[in-house]
Amino acid sequence: MLAFEYRSTIGQDSHRFVDRLNRPATAEELARPLLLGGFVIPSATGLAGNSDADVILHALTNAVSGLTGVNILGKISDQMCLEQGITDSRAYLERALQDLGDWHITHLSLTIEGKRPHLSAWIDSIRESIAQIIGIGPRDIGITATTGEGLTDFGRGDGLQVFCILTARRVDQT
Ligand SMILES: [Zn+2]
Repeated sequence: MLAFEYRSTIGQDSHRFVDRLNRPATAEELARPLLLGGFVIPSATGLAGNSDADVILHALTNAVSGLTGVNILGKISDQMCLEQGITDSRAYLERALQDLGDWHITHLSLTIEGKRPHLSAWIDSIRESIAQIIGIGPRDIGITATTGEGLTDFGRGDGLQVFCILTARRVDQT
């Protein structure tokens, strides 16, 4: 009988909005789009970072690293970004997915904390975008967003924080 082994892993990431840096933002920074899960949120302030600062894809990449044991964000993504000029966070995620082996991602649950922008109108678009990148159905991705009621810097509008729980399975090898 076919039996499956399951694992759940967590990833987290956060970024500051370009208009909440500890210094004045450059014109280039102020023109950055807000990318969430590879989807551009229209008319929203962007997040600061060396890469495209896609906080959802970074949390997801960290969750994949939690499964594979190969950390991508940090040394490897810095090499890709600073030495090869790759700022598209999809490339970091795809690099992480290369180490999946026989694990198949079956579900993602994401939580976003931030005061702005209001995301409810874009949640389905973000789900579709992540689904295409990962190769699972949008129904296998849940996303909730909370304002945090001003209790944290995210809740006060300084940036966004994302947690991602990833569930994966493989055929039991014992
Ligand atoms: Zn990040």
